[in-house]
Amino acid sequence: MKITSITLVPIQTHRRTGSISSHLILQMHTDEGVTGLGEISDLDCYRMYMPDVEAVRVGIEKIVLGRDPFAVQAMHNEMAKFLHNYFLSAPSYPPFTPASQIAAGIDMACFDIMGKALDTPVHTFLGGQVRDAIDICYPLFQVKAEADYERNLGYIRELLDQGISRFRYYVGVDFKKDEAFLAALRDRFGDRVMLKALDFQARHYWKDTLRAYDRLKQFGFEVIESPSWREDFAGMAELRRRVEADISEHCSSASQAMAMIRADAVDIFNVTVNSGGLLQVKKLVALAELAGIRTLIGTTQELSIGTAAHAHLGASMAEIATASDPVGPLLYAEDVVREKVQIRDNQIAVPTGPGLGVELDEEKLEALRAPLVEWDRAAHGAGYVSD
Ligand code: MG
Repeated sequence: MKITSITLVPIQTHRRTGSISSHLILQMHTDEGVTGLGEISDLDCYRMYMPDVEAVRVGIEKIVLGRDPFAVQAMHNEMAKFLHNYFLSAPSYPPFTPASQIAAGIDMACFDIMGKALDTPVHTFLGGQVRDAIDICYPLFQVKAEADYERNLGYIRELLDQGISRFRYYVGVDFKKDEAFLAALRDRFGDRVMLKALDFQARHYWKDTLRAYDRLKQFGFEVIESPSWREDFAGMAELRRRVEADISEHCSSASQAMAMIRADAVDIFNVTVNSGGLLQVKKLVALAELAGIRTLIGTTQELSIGTAAHAHLGASMAEIATASDPVGPLLYAEDVVREKVQIRDNQIAVPTGPGLGVELDEEKLEALRAPLVEWDRAAHGAGYVSD
């Protein structure tokens, strides 16, 4: 089988909050009539330097045309020549780059083709199925202004009504406001709301995180995520000795994985397909497993194609430490598939169809087609939520 052409479409979708997210949807066509789907998700974190869609299209063609989609490692070898360092080294936050996300889009499209060609789900190629659903939690951004308290509590109420009761909360713009918000959350919803994690986003020194932890631990959560500055793995190790909560950090490259293992920095690696694709992230999962570190599945928030890739990864993992983070199909108002990946009762159902198990809806894709960046509308993210 050979890849004969690709289609790459830029789209915009709305989050529940009203902010927009931009994505590239990749279709990889073959000489046997099988088409694979890939997604380069939620690119708004690169707002200042969005990739040029035409340049990405030509680049992907250079790598994939004429190649066998089953030869995924050979594809990664080829990508490594052009997408430097996308997996060997990486920023600690966000835990992906345009290069690693392009690699992930190509990689997941190859796996989708393989599954469709052999009429089997993608997890077959990742070690086979261990579980048919993945525990998840829903993200809440920091309270920064008075209006945010009721807005966040309103989201929680809506989600509880939909059967979603596990959350993670980004802290640290203003710890006093975080404390007041978490008190209001417990006051209003009690134990009906589960808090998986407080995410410090690598914005604080570990000693400041420890002081915040001592004030916030009364509200009950399992995990502290990204608890010290960037690659302060020694600081994470210090903090880890002093708290009961598990320490989790994004791990998106071989060098980070080895540094965190050597420093005894964390209990949990937070890994995502966006760091370079399914084949690459399985290597991080294997490294963690062999080093006695647990793993959860992270996200940038994907549409159903990318969420399906994460679900197949989760389906194939020996163990998952705690609830994982991809909830794009709940969080986005729109999608590009006929039927969204199902999320209910705090779980993603692993798609059962061949390949990734989702079907592209060409009309929905066309309706969402839009330039990658639009400065006049609100983006999301802790640093620049506007309303
Ligand atoms: Mg995080």
